[in-house]
Amino acid sequence: MASALGPRGLVILDRDGVINRDSKTFVKSADEWIPLPGSIEAIASLSRAGFTVAIASNQSGLARGLFDRSALRAMHRKLRRLVGAAGGRVDRIVVCPHGPDDGCSCRKPLPGLLQRLARHYDAPLDGVPVIGDSGRDLEAARAAGATPILVRTGNGARTESSLGGQPGDVAVYDDLAAAAAVLVGE
Ligand SMILES: [Mg+2]
Ligand SMILES: [Zn+2]
Repeated sequence: MASALGPRGLVILDRDGVINRDSKTFVKSADEWIPLPGSIEAIASLSRAGFTVAIASNQSGLARGLFDRSALRAMHRKLRRLVGAAGGRVDRIVVCPHGPDDGCSCRKPLPGLLQRLARHYDAPLDGVPVIGDSGRDLEAARAAGATPILVRTGNGARTESSLGGQPGDVAVYDDLAAAAAVLVGE
C-alpha cells in the first residue's frame, strides 16, 4: 500500500547541513545531532501547510562503523520529537547506509533514495522540491526528475560558488526557513 500524500504533495529534504549542523567527523549520536537555527520550525511550517515532509540522507558513517542503526534511530527520534513539539511531522526517512566504494544505487548523487520515496508514495517526482546543501543532492534531484533547491547552510555556500554564478535550474536560499517560506507561500 502506498502512503497518502498531503494536499500540497511531497517535499524531500537532505538532512546534514540542511536540518542539522554537519560535521567533518560525522554526526554520530543524538547528542551530536544539533538543529540549525529555524530548521525545525521550517519543517513544521511545511507540514502544517499540507506538505508531506520526507528526508533522504547519505549516512556512510554506518558503513564506516562510526555509529550503528540504533544511534541513527535515536537521532531521528530527536528530530521527530522536536518537529512534533513545533506542531509538525516528519514522514518517511530513507538513508543510504553504504560507503562510497560499495557500488550501491542509493548513495546520492544517484537517484535511488529519491526513487524509493516515489515508490513508497506511489507518486511521480516531477515538480517535487528536493532541498539540499551539496552538489550530489542537486544531481540526485535532477536524475530523479525532481526540482533541485540549494540552501547556503552546511556545504551550501561552497556548492553555490561551484555553480559559478550559473545556478541554471537551481533556486538558492539562505537556509531551510527561507526555502520553506517560499514553498508555503506559493
Ligand atoms: Mg547535506
Ligand atoms: Zn546506498
